[in-house]
Amino acid sequence: MYCSKCGTPNDDTARFCAKCGTPLAGAPAPGGTVAPPPIDPRVRGGGSLPVGPGSLPPGQPTVVAGKNPWLAVLLSFLLAGLGQIYNGDTKKGLIMLVVGILVSWTIVLYVGIWIWSMIDAHSVASGKGKTW
Ligand SMILES: [Zn+2]
Repeated sequence: MYCSKCGTPNDDTARFCAKCGTPLAGAPAPGGTVAPPPIDPRVRGGGSLPVGPGSLPPGQPTVVAGKNPWLAVLLSFLLAGLGQIYNGDTKKGLIMLVVGILVSWTIVLYVGIWIWSMIDAHSVASGKGKTW
């Protein structure tokens, strides 16, 4: 579109004239920049919803309790999948074990499963991760 003030051709998506800075006709510039602030109070008004997900995880009953995260890591260190089985996450552990054996001819792939197993074992045992 062309600037109504100086006639400079501007991109159709441009909000302001590149040459003189005049707001271009049809551009939602004034409303677009003012809109975000009023949204904030509305979000806070319904703020009870966003608070929930943040405070729930620590008290969730699905969390694995009574497991030592570092023992889980040690077991996964010895063999990918062992830490998961220790966590009671048998399905995930067996999958890691089988996939680990299947890809063991490619050390790079096994190391990937191995590291994943150790990280996951710690995460689940400390209640941050979920079992399968
Ligand atoms: Zn202009």
